[in-house]
Amino acid sequence: MKEVKTLKVKLHEMSWIEAKGYFKRNDTAIIPVGSNEQHGPQNPLGTDHLIAKAIAEETAKRTAVLCLQVVPFGVSSHHKQFWGTVYILPKTFKNYVKETCLALNYYGVRKIVIVNGHGGNRCALVEVARELKEKGVFVSIFQWWSVMDKLSPNLFKPEERGHAAAEETSVNLALHPQIVDMNKAVDEEPRKHSVQTEGVTLPLDTVDHTSSGVFGKSTTASAEKGKRIFETAVDELVKHVSLLKETKIEDLISEPKV
Ligand SMILES: [Zn+2]
Repeated sequence: MKEVKTLKVKLHEMSWIEAKGYFKRNDTAIIPVGSNEQHGPQNPLGTDHLIAKAIAEETAKRTAVLCLQVVPFGVSSHHKQFWGTVYILPKTFKNYVKETCLALNYYGVRKIVIVNGHGGNRCALVEVARELKEKGVFVSIFQWWSVMDKLSPNLFKPEERGHAAAEETSVNLALHPQIVDMNKAVDEEPRKHSVQTEGVTLPLDTVDHTSSGVFGKSTTASAEKGKRIFETAVDELVKHVSLLKETKIEDLISEPKV
């Protein structure tokens, strides 16, 4: 029997000849981005970029859309008091992602899905999307926890859905249990700063709210729930990528009204 070769979808695994073959026929790509920051005593620092990478690569496989390497560092200076957090400035992150998108655009990519694993990156990514639209490139931003807000809001209690709490820990347990230590998991109710009143935004850091780095309850995490989150997120992203792939760029970027 002849061996069936599976289609390559990871850019870094392709040769330039294979990349040419993809870009000649396709104008869509996926870029996962995340951060390297504290996620409590039980989770790896890479949590946000590892989850984004896994969701992006699985979606790429199911849709036959090109996936880039994950951008591991992001906008997370607010976690820096916890050891090992490596952060970059919002403008550095924004330019890095934007220039990566423009490099793809040189080969004809017009539609890009950014799979974002870290909420702190979102503002910079929204700016990237607006600026690239001006250049004729349509960028969408996907965040897995927003999918859960809509599709499965009752899988976890509100106190299990904070940073490094049960929801996020569960996804780690499903994807890479060997780097999660549930013996170290803690529950910590985040504290309010003494000068905090309603209507005020303060430049606070994570350490002002929690000593462990966990916002809420993390001890109830489970690999089984994590698998459900992963599958729900990938299913939804596959829908979006498939729709985007079929839509012409002219139908995504409007011309002036006549
Ligand atoms: Zn996270």
